[in-house]
Amino acid sequence: MNYPLMFRCSGHLAVFLSLWLLAGCGSEDKTAVAPTETRPATEEAVVAVAPATTMAAVDGNRIINADSEPGNWLTHGRTYDEQRYSPLAQINAGNVSNLGLAWYYDLDSSRGQESTPIVVDGVMYVSTAWSMVKALDARTGALKWAYDPQVPKSWGVYACCDVVNRGVAIWNNTIYFGTLDGRLIALDAATGKPAWEVLTIDNTKPYTITGAPRVINGKIIIGNGGSEYGVRGYVSAYDAETGALAWRFYTVPGDPSQPFEAPILAEAAKTWNGEWWKYGGGGTVWDSMAYDPDLNLLYIGTGNGAPWNQSIRSPGGGDNLFLSSIVALNASTGEYVWHYQTTPGETWDFTAAQHIILADLEINGQTRKVLMQVPKNGFFYVVDRTNGALISAQPVVATTWATHVDMATGRPVENPESRYDKTGKVWVGVPGPAGAHSWHPMSYNRQTGLVYVPINDAGFVYMPVQQLNIKPHSFNTGIDFGAADLPPDPVVKKQIMDSVTGHLAAWDPVLQRESWRVNYPGPWNGGVLSTAGNLVIQGTAASELVIYTADNGTKLWSMPVQTGVVAAPITYEVDGEQYIAVAAGWGGIYPLVTGDLAFKSGPVRNISRVIAFKLGGTTTLPPMPPETPRVLNPPELTADTAKLAIGKQAYDRACSTCHGGGVVSGGLITDLRYSPSLGNELFFEIVEKGLYNDKGMVSYADTYNHEELDAIQAYLIKRAHDSME
Ligand code: CA
Repeated sequence: MNYPLMFRCSGHLAVFLSLWLLAGCGSEDKTAVAPTETRPATEEAVVAVAPATTMAAVDGNRIINADSEPGNWLTHGRTYDEQRYSPLAQINAGNVSNLGLAWYYDLDSSRGQESTPIVVDGVMYVSTAWSMVKALDARTGALKWAYDPQVPKSWGVYACCDVVNRGVAIWNNTIYFGTLDGRLIALDAATGKPAWEVLTIDNTKPYTITGAPRVINGKIIIGNGGSEYGVRGYVSAYDAETGALAWRFYTVPGDPSQPFEAPILAEAAKTWNGEWWKYGGGGTVWDSMAYDPDLNLLYIGTGNGAPWNQSIRSPGGGDNLFLSSIVALNASTGEYVWHYQTTPGETWDFTAAQHIILADLEINGQTRKVLMQVPKNGFFYVVDRTNGALISAQPVVATTWATHVDMATGRPVENPESRYDKTGKVWVGVPGPAGAHSWHPMSYNRQTGLVYVPINDAGFVYMPVQQLNIKPHSFNTGIDFGAADLPPDPVVKKQIMDSVTGHLAAWDPVLQRESWRVNYPGPWNGGVLSTAGNLVIQGTAASELVIYTADNGTKLWSMPVQTGVVAAPITYEVDGEQYIAVAAGWGGIYPLVTGDLAFKSGPVRNISRVIAFKLGGTTTLPPMPPETPRVLNPPELTADTAKLAIGKQAYDRACSTCHGGGVVSGGLITDLRYSPSLGNELFFEIVEKGLYNDKGMVSYADTYNHEELDAIQAYLIKRAHDSME
């Protein structure tokens, strides 16, 4: 059955295109606890540049009292409640026009930079693509030390959504971070020398770590991703001093013939059908966490099902707990306390691993301890964080998969046609796997009472397939990604591209309505910071850093920064001067997979650096490095239509999720239309025999037979010719 051709017949339906977001990888998963191995990390990986001077003696009391030292940024979301709001106001709406570049630091990686830096007592600690860490002088950007955990490049194929890292944690003079290949590493904050490292995963399975750890009462909390490849989600806590495993909570049940790791998983198993554990099940904890010290509750957001297609994962349906859920755990023991599931029976990659913000809001005359989240599914949820009761939910975009959330049951009221896995038909839906909101951090401003949300206005074409890839380094989602390719018809293509945009929404969480918005030409704009200076600060896919007033969205300032910005800015103060800083560097899943849409906001490149601004800053960025002109020069196209169709389908099974839909690279990875391997044996040396394994392009001989690879090569040649027209 030729799905791509089927789709072409209904191509006009494709009003939306898109992307998806973080999760993970894997083929099959068993219930065994992943091996835990503590070993000394290699010291050769450290590059020390300056003598150690920092103390960085951060503990829980300092984080809880972060507002007493707003000059620092002590934990991922600045505070345990992850509000990403700073009381600093030296830079404010009245003087921000004087903002200028203070310093920049060029990074030694050219993939997506999604990290939120930590700043303690004048030192900035920032992680980068490939899980590397730098300590910089927060006044000047001068390097103090650097650490490279030397993640094997070949592990990159297990990362659904770029080889990113979203940040480090600090506790008692020690820096903690996860690596793409599943390690948790502790470094001396003063020197960058490793104290310990521990493997947090079963490394026979395609798990990845991209999220930032949090530290609570001497325990390092870390999750992982992999749900696109077929793994079982969990979150772990390790002793900060020793690296010993303190507790682990699995988010989905394992094989019910084996003992469940926690009593709640026996209950969760009643919401599953079939042999889900053979597919992993998913529910990875790949990004968001928040902590309420008064309640001693750790809130985690969980990911999508593995595979996406629920009829494969759990035939006959079921809620499939705890996929796409917010789960509250006892932070000391990891025991389940309550959950709220945003998308029961998840089948669209609608993760709930998005940013969780805690706040106390006055609602109907009562002060409520709430938790707020905009998961991928497009609703803004306000939940009572003491017990998980839903307070309110409203769509932030025009959701087509569900009309509303039923307040009596707390469940979405679905459009039955959206369950493509049950209908067996194509579903063109909004949002798509990029989410109305992805991992990009939001900000809650205590002065305005508004939550600033980076929104993607992008849907997706869901076409079910019955067969999985099974191989670990391929997406195993149960859908055909090729269905979402932009069509060849230029008019239809333009209509689709025009429909894919983005915006910054300023959302009133009490009234549950938009207060103001800024529209952008494309999606995948950066995370957000807001401050007591009445400022909202955001980088964009159009390679700018932009500042608006927090109360009404008036644009106050912007500066070109040479690269798309996806990470969230931070602010801090050293020696009486306030700085705004961001890890700049275009990347993530969107430019990897969306083909031409990667450039919806205009030409964009990855030029990775940390950039910092202050009032009166006069530094200038160096000229942009020149781009080598590329010339399409494919060999003659000799393949017939049938072979090209086989090639396209094979390409869409595994190649497209890195090299781009329609063989259009978003700029992070080799654009295969220009490859010198087209039409010759080099192609097979690379794809079949693993010539570039050390560069990250592993052999796909276990995914494709020689005939399929030959057809893929023909399809690449065809796409190169298409692009010359
Ligand atoms: Ca996902």
